[in-house]
Amino acid sequence: MRNAAIDPVALTADLIRCPSVTPAEGGALVLLQGVLEGAGFECTRVDRGGIANLFARWGKRGHPRSFGFNGHTDVVPVGDEATWSVAPFGGEICDGRVWGRGACDMKSAVAAFVAAAVEVVRNAPPYGAIILAITGDEEGEARDGTRALLDWMAERGEAMSACVVGEPTCPERMGEMMKIGRRGSMTAYFTATGVQGHSAYPQRAKNPLTALVRLLDGLASHRLDDGTAHFDASTLAITTIDTGNPANNVTPEKARATVNIRFNDAHSGASLSDWLRAHAVRVGAEFGVEFEARITISGESFITPPGPLSDLVAAAVEAETGLVPVFSTSGGTSDARFVKDHCPVVEFGLVGQSMHKVDEFADVAHIRQLTAIYRRVLEGYFAA
Ligand SMILES: [Zn+2]
Repeated sequence: MRNAAIDPVALTADLIRCPSVTPAEGGALVLLQGVLEGAGFECTRVDRGGIANLFARWGKRGHPRSFGFNGHTDVVPVGDEATWSVAPFGGEICDGRVWGRGACDMKSAVAAFVAAAVEVVRNAPPYGAIILAITGDEEGEARDGTRALLDWMAERGEAMSACVVGEPTCPERMGEMMKIGRRGSMTAYFTATGVQGHSAYPQRAKNPLTALVRLLDGLASHRLDDGTAHFDASTLAITTIDTGNPANNVTPEKARATVNIRFNDAHSGASLSDWLRAHAVRVGAEFGVEFEARITISGESFITPPGPLSDLVAAAVEAETGLVPVFSTSGGTSDARFVKDHCPVVEFGLVGQSMHKVDEFADVAHIRQLTAIYRRVLEGYFAA
């Protein structure tokens, strides 16, 4: 008996009706498990640390031709619900759009790759395996999401030989951009400690603000690089400077500042940490102020160099949209930063304009196009 086809638009709407604000599962993965098991996929819940994740495979475990999709069903909070003109978890379909939280980021893409995978195994069961690794923790800490899935897969001898992450990648027009890598991201929290004093006698104090301002000016005016083959130039932004000092006649003992760096493959989190610390030591010595730096690296930069996987996806995008997607490494981080340690990975998904916003939506036509693109990717991969 042949399985019924999955309508990706109806499935998107059904998923939106599952209120899966991180870390809540909201019924989204249970729904997908039912759909996938009905189509012959072997499903395992890979929950960790209170986060729900779903692993689904059609075909043999450990097959050398295992094509994977990765995505998330968790969504960001709705904010002030009164400002929405639709019910955020209503999954309403009107004016050619599916509306609600997660419509764009990224329940539609999950629905699209589920529908595409089911369609492919239904019409032309491939020689190989299809793996869907779906997490409930991308918008949160991402500690027990895709990482938990990949850890579990490694223990079980489950592997993807190539993977597409379905995050929204197109700035305005469907098909115009895919991502072949991402910049790294890190944050440095500086605390400068000096000696408090009377502002009329600065020579008797050690003002941490003076040192901090010098440090930040040095960091922000330094050109990290001029960009590399596939990346724009790295950037450094000062995100906050704080003393909380209400007095005008006192210079404070402590001052804090935070900088965020988005970096390309000319750097690593470690090399930039060294640079930041060395700079702080130098300025600290000059001003007699002590600097403490706490640094968190949320992701290293990575790239899947243009090759068979990016060409396969680009050809599918062009066939369905008429546009040749740009290979980009712009934007924030995504779970591709974890998948890249497992297998070659690229990202392609919808137009991202409404992600995380009030009245989030996805165009019905785009969801159908995305499904057709993912289907072409699978067919192309297994035909090769
Ligand atoms: Zn997302």
